[in-house]
Amino acid sequence: MDSNNEKPADGAQPSRRRFVSTVATGLAASAAAVATSPAMAQNGDAAPGQPPAGRAKDAAARYPRPPFAVQSQPWPALASKMNPRPDHGETTYRGSGRLAGRKALVTGGDSGIGRAAVIAFAREGADVAINYLPAEEADAREVVKLIQDAGRKAVAIPGDIRDEAFCRKLVAEAVRQLGGLDILVNNAARQQSHDFILELTTEQFDWTFKTNVYAMFWITKAAIPHLKQGSCIINTASVQAYSPSENLLDYASTKSAQVAFTKSLAKQLGKKGIRVNAIAPGPIWTPLQVCGGQTPENLKKFGEESPMGRPGQPAELALAFVTLAADESSYTTGQVYGVAGGAGNP
Ligand code: NAD
Ligand code: MG
Repeated sequence: MDSNNEKPADGAQPSRRRFVSTVATGLAASAAAVATSPAMAQNGDAAPGQPPAGRAKDAAARYPRPPFAVQSQPWPALASKMNPRPDHGETTYRGSGRLAGRKALVTGGDSGIGRAAVIAFAREGADVAINYLPAEEADAREVVKLIQDAGRKAVAIPGDIRDEAFCRKLVAEAVRQLGGLDILVNNAARQQSHDFILELTTEQFDWTFKTNVYAMFWITKAAIPHLKQGSCIINTASVQAYSPSENLLDYASTKSAQVAFTKSLAKQLGKKGIRVNAIAPGPIWTPLQVCGGQTPENLKKFGEESPMGRPGQPAELALAFVTLAADESSYTTGQVYGVAGGAGNP
């Protein structure tokens, strides 16, 4: 499922929460200070962008649990305005050179699961281009700074992927600025809750499919001519592909489509040595959930039905992306990697 909510659910008081301040020196728009934002309690006290000596065992134990306080933001929502703020691994992910010299494009790389993948990729040695919507510039600047702090090249390319011409431009620009491409992550998505099919308009249905299915198709088509043997594509699907919620009819349908797309394309690209896999997260604490992705009731108990009794944090997906992208996974293609706290895959 994909849902969420607000309140320091681990009982943390605001005074316990630390503040992360980053200054963007980013490539998009003019360089400017990024808003200082309340950060969720995380493991270690390293400076932003610098992994701490210890790792996430303790952080995971302190991850927030429901009930969450209800919160709402205008779509597409900012991670920096969520409460508690998601953990994307900013202070915890430690790289080990697994993706040294690789060049990655991640859609929806500004926040949530995409940001966690981007932080991990950069700390594993990859240069990274991110796509996001112009309204998400503040989140994107934080990510640009995190990539640069990891000593890698950051490329920020805002724009709406519902437009095929933009999708082609996005890939061309990423290839130009990175000097090539060998990891594509189709991660951006639209999710809006609708209780009943008769309330679901053609416009909304189309919006969801354009973002989640057509854009993946367009971006992948544009990318393939640039992908050499050893490259890979990772699509962010969802447990919704297998266990659709009643209020996410259109979204869940797109996630099933992504799984079929992944498995079919893996067969097409196998002999070229290009791997195609998907990741199927369970309920993860991200902006998608607080701007219409969930009903307020579901947001309050977000993650409660997971066997772990809590939602996952984006940081808990990072290693799955790295694993699928790494050369060591050279015989892994057409697979769906579930990260759902104990529920999910068929
Ligand atoms: P998120 O809001 O952080 O990321 C979604 C991103 O999609 C946004 O940041 C935005 O940049 C991008 N986006 C949406 N519409 C766009 C458009 N028209 N043009 C360009 N970019 C657009 O939320 P998230 O939960 O991290 O979502 C990332 C992926 O994870 C999605 O594919 C989502 O379906 C999947 N997922 C999320 C959950 C969950 O519970 N959060 C569970 C399973 C799967
Ligand atoms: Mg975002």
